[in-house]
Amino acid sequence: MERNDKRGFTDFFRHSAEKNGLLSLVTEEHIEKLFLLTEHMLTVNEQFNLTAIREPSRVILLHYVDSLLGAHLFPEGASVVDVGAGAGFPTLPLAVVRPDLRITALDSTAKRMGYVEETARLLGLSNVTPLVGRAEELANDASYREKFDCATARAVAALPVLCELCLPFVKVGGRFIAMKGRGGGAELSAAKNAIHLLGGKDVALYDTPVLAPDGETFEHTTVLIEKVASTAPKYPRAYGKIAKAPL
Ligand code: SAM
Repeated sequence: MERNDKRGFTDFFRHSAEKNGLLSLVTEEHIEKLFLLTEHMLTVNEQFNLTAIREPSRVILLHYVDSLLGAHLFPEGASVVDVGAGAGFPTLPLAVVRPDLRITALDSTAKRMGYVEETARLLGLSNVTPLVGRAEELANDASYREKFDCATARAVAALPVLCELCLPFVKVGGRFIAMKGRGGGAELSAAKNAIHLLGGKDVALYDTPVLAPDGETFEHTTVLIEKVASTAPKYPRAYGKIAKAPL
């Protein structure tokens, strides 16, 4: 598909949404915004590396559908922190189809957060706030600690590490929604101890591959962890410790 083929993009998006049970979530206006996002991202990508996925139908499947398979798990009106949002995934597609959510896109790379800010403005999204910094440092800042209804993350780290970076941001009674590729189940088994120590309770693993209109499939799992107790002040630890000795 050519980058400026709006009709082709819209048709492929509709088919993909239908195949993946997302049709009720996505309106024509959302698809228009995601077309604009694709054009903008692929143009910026020529100068500044945002994504290795450069073909629009692949962007639809591997960035948009992949980011939206867990979209129904965020409660209405929730505040969300997307830890390691990078080029804006899942932040930007989620903000488009769920305007009720208030999403903080957190990443240590200022340049990527500058791009996310500029892109949110271009798409007319008022529900995205970029935040530059390291998750393990910001989670120890009283302005952010246990202040979000939900945390989410995609393609940032293995689940035992990710839990220590994400669960401290979540209020008791909130949830952490981890978007994983292959091996989500094995990661969840490895993360049981971390989840327990950080105040979480693992509640669900959704095995929902991304389904392409031509029958191709891409592994995708979503792990839903409820926050049932406050995280002890000693977590998160410094990143070196988190990575070297995951809980
Ligand atoms: N979530 C995006 C996606 O799905 O395309 C980006 C994934 S990219 C592979 C991982 C991102 O996580 C990078 O932008 C990196 O800067 C960020 N990151 C990794 N560890 C981090 C930390 N401890 N604090 C903040 N950002 C972090």
